[in-house]
Formats: sequence, C-alpha cells, structure tokens
Amino acid sequence: MTVTAPPLTKVPNYINGQWQDSTAHEWQDVVNPATGEVIASVPLSDTTEVSNAIDAASAAYPAWRRTPPEDRIQPLFKLKQLLEDHQDELARIITHENGKTFAESKAELRRAIENVEVACGIPMMMQGYNLEDVARGIDETMIRQPLGVVAAITPFNFPGMIPFWFLPYAIACGNTFILKPSERVPLTMRRAFELLDQTGLPAGVVTLINGGKTAVDTLLDHPKVRAISFVGSTPVAKYIYARAGANGKRAQCQGGAKNHVIVLPDADMKMATQIISDSAFGCAGQRCLAVSVAVTVGEAQSTFRDSITEAAASLRVGNGVDKDVQMGPIITPQSKARIESLIDRGTHEGAKLLLDGRHATVTGGERGNFLKPTVLDGIPRNSDLADTEIFGPVLSLVHASNLDEALAFLERSAYGNQASLFTSSGAAARRFRYEAPAGNIGINIGVAAPMAYFPFSGWKDSFFAARPGPRCRRVLYREESSGRTLGVRPLP
Ligand code: NAD
Repeated sequence: MTVTAPPLTKVPNYINGQWQDSTAHEWQDVVNPATGEVIASVPLSDTTEVSNAIDAASAAYPAWRRTPPEDRIQPLFKLKQLLEDHQDELARIITHENGKTFAESKAELRRAIENVEVACGIPMMMQGYNLEDVARGIDETMIRQPLGVVAAITPFNFPGMIPFWFLPYAIACGNTFILKPSERVPLTMRRAFELLDQTGLPAGVVTLINGGKTAVDTLLDHPKVRAISFVGSTPVAKYIYARAGANGKRAQCQGGAKNHVIVLPDADMKMATQIISDSAFGCAGQRCLAVSVAVTVGEAQSTFRDSITEAAASLRVGNGVDKDVQMGPIITPQSKARIESLIDRGTHEGAKLLLDGRHATVTGGERGNFLKPTVLDGIPRNSDLADTEIFGPVLSLVHASNLDEALAFLERSAYGNQASLFTSSGAAARRFRYEAPAGNIGINIGVAAPMAYFPFSGWKDSFFAARPGPRCRRVLYREESSGRTLGVRPLP
C-alpha cells in the first residue's frame, strides 16, 4: 500500500467550536516512528490557553446539561457514521504517527466505533432507580446527573480508541468534555475532531487541547474541571490520582502493566503459541494487555519454549503501511533504547536469549525505531526484567513445577492488569478465574480486552480511582478446540 504523506502541519486546538492556532511558545515534533520523518509540530499549550478552553467548556455546560438525553445522542449517531466512512483514512493517520500496522489501526478504530454505539444507549443506561416506603410514607429515588466539565488525558499507544473510551459517554451524560491526547500522536484526534465538528454538537461541548505536563497540570488544578480520566504509565497515573484527589476531583486513572500467561501441559500448544505470540508481539508489545511473561508448567516448558521462539522469529517487521508487515516500530528512539537496555540487564541477571531482536535491519526503515521480537528464557524471579514493564516486543519465559508455584509468581507482581491461562482443564480454569490477581482474566485468550459494554479496570498498580466502585473483573473464555469465544462473565 502506498501512502502520501500529508504536508507538515502545525496542529491546532479545537476550542469553543473553532479551530485555533495555538499561542504556545513551546512546540514538539511529531515523528513517524517507521521513517524518522517529522510529520507535524504540536503545541505544548500553556496555562492561559488551557484555562480559556476550560472556561468555554464551562460556559457550554448549562445548556448542554438541560438538553434531553435523546437529543444529546443524535450527534453520536452521526459520529458513528462519519467514523465508519473515514475509517481507512483515520487508520492511515494512526499508522503514520504511531507505527502500528494498518490492520491494527483499523481494529482499534472498530473498538472506538463500538464505544460510540454503546454510548447511544445512554437514555437507558443513565436511568436511576427508586423504592417506595423506605420508611413510613417516604420513598427514595437515585438520579444520575452529569458533573460539569470533565477531561481525559490519553497515551500514545491507541490514539484512535482510548479517547473514545470517554468522550461519547461523557457528552451523552450531559457533561462537556476536554481531551488532552498524547503529544506524540496528536494527528488522529485532530482528524476525529474535524468529524466531530460536522455532527452538529454545540460549541464548547467537546474541546481538543494539545500539550504536555503544563496542560495536564492546568486541568488538574482548575476548579471548573470536575473529573479526570487518565490512561498511561503508572508513575503518571499515581501523580494524577494524587493531585486530582487533593483538588477534590473525581479521578479514574489506568496505569501500566506487566501481564502474565500461564501455560499448562494440557493446553493446545499450537493454539497457545499462536495466541500468545499475537499478544506479546502485536502492536510491537506496546499494549497494556500484552503478555510480557509466560510461566510454563511442567512439560509445557520445552514444547512451548521451542514453538514460541519459532513463531516469534517468523514475524515480518517493518513499516505498518506495508500490508505484508505483521509488526511495526517502537514509538521513539528513546523507548527503543530503554527496551534494549532492559534486555541487556536481563542477560546480565542470568536470562538466556533465545531470540535477540536488537540490531534489527528493516529494508527502507534505516531511520525507523525497529526492534524484532525477543524471547528470553529463565528470568530470575527477583530480577528487574521480571518486575519492570517493558512495553516492547519482548517475551520472558519462566518455569514452574505446578499451578500453585505459577500463581505465586503472578501474586508477587506489583501490577494487575491482565492474567491468562492456557489449559483444557475446567478445574484449573475455574481456580485461575477465582484466584489470579488481575482485573482482566483470559482463559485460552491472549488479550482479554473488554467489549465496550463491559467495564475495564486493572488491579494493584494498574488502576487508581478516587471513588472506586466494587472491585470487579471480567473473564473471557475460549473453547479450546474451536477457538470460539464462549462468553464474557464477570465474577459475582
Ligand atoms: P505516559 O504516562 O507517558 O503519558 C500518558 C499521558 O500523560 C500523555 O497524554 C502525556 O502527555 C501525559 N504525561 C506524561 N508525563 C506527564 C507528567 N509528568 N505530568 C503530567 N502529565 C504527563 O504514557 P505513554 O507512554 O503515552 O503510554 C504508555 C503507558 O500507558 C504504558 O505504561 C501502558 O501500560 C499504559 N497504558 C495503560 C492502559 C490501561 O488501560 N491500563 C492502556 C494503554 C496504555
């Protein structure tokens, strides 16, 4: 596939229903990670600019809050159609600025569209409940109301999907919404907001503000911002959770991850290998639900070690616009260097390199940030490699004698985003569902990603919430013989 590069743009902000050139003094290059080419310049908007955007969103709130829910969702129906019509164009932008393959970009947009579809059900979902005679002659009613101006701060790895985890629900509920996307990938949302502009939403209901830490801090400190949604790394999630909480705001902060899969000897090894390879190396491992550590039990050790190394070695790495490519580049040269140094550290700590993806050569990608899949065997339990989120195409293997020992390995992780088990044993599957310490559980599933109509949150250092609901988790099952997903069941 050939893609014509767009002209170099200065990314504008979208405030009060208008595109505005930023007055920022600081700007940052947006770089195509496959080619090293500078494709745009993004403003690091300052406090005054962000405050003006918040004021406009606040001014739009009273009228929007009084708009009936049925009317509030009409622009979302238009948005769904516009996203469908422009899916290929948006996917090309994602690949251009993030590096993932065109197929992966299209897949994340499908998830974005599903969230818009689900938010169209707000007139039902937002209903409260009531009970007569809670005391003699007294009835009680619970009503859901919007909060006011709410904001989301999002990461680089899903530029098309993650903003739509929040935007459609926030505005359908009657809030006005501000998005601060990752400054590394601002172009996808720039185009998405051009589409939002065509939906007939009143000015100020949705705002796009580009920037970095200063923009985030302004959102966190401004009294008119009532709630913050964040997705990104754990250190920043902790910071945002603390600062938003100290300022009396609601906050839901999704952090980083270190996801484990346990492979039992009774697993269908061919299926397990394929699915775990997709999970570990899809999106070049830059996915918060990617498998990072595979714990093999008993005889699974040697079969799985050989098959996963072979599968990883066969992946075609390159520019995601090329339709034969299965894995794209790493987001920045700095991230690539960090991953390489973690691999170095792992080998010094005693792990054996079964497949070394460093020093990858990719034809035509000499200036890109390419790494090939890497597989390390026998990482020591207390090593940096066992504990640190790598966020790259690196799979570490460890071995356990039984399921107890394997579960103990998961228990010691600081993170709890996802855990998966590959087995054909119903008893082992039930025990895993019951005991595995993570918010998203996969049985014969490599990426236990939630459908839009299920909640998504990790446990431990993968999620921080100022007003957490009941601890919940989702479980995805796959019937091992056919590979068919059987259902999605939350624990009671
Ligand atoms: P990041 O934490 O560096 O950045 C996320 C956002 O925070 C960006 O918009 C950025 O501008 C802002 N930010 C960065 N540093 C900041 C600071 N010091 N103060 C205020 N704001 C700051 O994350 P990233 O590198 O863009 O994304 C990768 C991370 O996101 C990984 O750790 C991954 O696991 C995590 N992630 C988690 C989920 C989830 O659902 N749990 C989903 C996707 C990604």
